[in-house]
Amino acid sequence: MKIAILSQDGALYSTKRLKDAAKEKNHQVQVINYLRCYMNITSHQPSVFYQGKPLEEYDAVIPRIGASRTFYGTAVVRQFELMGVFAANESQAISRSRDKLRCLQILAREGIGLPVTGFAHATQDIDGLIETVGGAPVVIKLLEGTQGIGVVLAETHQAAKSVIEAFRGLEANILVQEFIKEAKGADIRCFVVGGKVVAAMKRQGGEGEFRSNLHRGGKAEKIKVTPEERSTAVRSVKAMGLRVAGVDMLRSNHGPVVMEINSSPGLEGIENATGIDVAGKIIEFIEKNATPNKLSDRIPY
Ligand code: ADP
Repeated sequence: MKIAILSQDGALYSTKRLKDAAKEKNHQVQVINYLRCYMNITSHQPSVFYQGKPLEEYDAVIPRIGASRTFYGTAVVRQFELMGVFAANESQAISRSRDKLRCLQILAREGIGLPVTGFAHATQDIDGLIETVGGAPVVIKLLEGTQGIGVVLAETHQAAKSVIEAFRGLEANILVQEFIKEAKGADIRCFVVGGKVVAAMKRQGGEGEFRSNLHRGGKAEKIKVTPEERSTAVRSVKAMGLRVAGVDMLRSNHGPVVMEINSSPGLEGIENATGIDVAGKIIEFIEKNATPNKLSDRIPY
């Protein structure tokens, strides 16, 4: 097969691993910087150009779109879809998962366990917003944050109110969430490929830190997830219309609750923690499923 990895940087661990896994399985593979792609949007012969030449005859693309590049990145993926190329994740599903609020609303509709979450535009009703999620302590999150930046634990009602006012004063969009104390600074990442959890790890935040992000000094270890966690992860990914995704969950008193779904999940943390060849699993999934001219996303929201 001829596979393109859409990534800004061929030297990134995940990009390199996907490239090597594809080569190992005797595929032709190329890393393409999607920000350098340009497009010809016509109805009879849509194309993508790269380094002055049209990109032709790919069987599959693997999007690895940076969070800050979703707009252009998904446009490039969509263009490949117009050309009938199979995408490991379709453009619609990537856009859907990138919006944290939209993601939670879709999961809620499917009846998936979530931390009680509030969202508001105006600052007049902050007291009510804090009360809807059960009162302090609460977690306040910037909608556009990644890697734990912009995730704040407010222990008291007053602290929560000040933080929300400060963020809203800067016109930032935020979520207010019940604090899952019993998770004890740990979360679970399930890596789902083609409807199956292929690897899972637990991340534990450093001493005194409620955020478990590896970028913030968290430590990862391999775990065996419960059947309930496994089905929650699989159902969440399906609800988003994704094929390859990382599902982040907390172990709460009322079962697993999903925080986030990542459509370009990193491979380094999960492969190192579990010893599983996740890149190989992604390539195998593409081998089995890459049918041309077949968009599968039929999710109406
Ligand atoms: P980001 O996308 O920036 O990583 P997350 O929503 O994943 O933001 O939050 C970062 C970390 O903070 C999570 O991995 C988790 O450990 C912790 N956390 C987030 N939300 C909650 C919550 N409601 N209760 C307890 N811990 C939380």
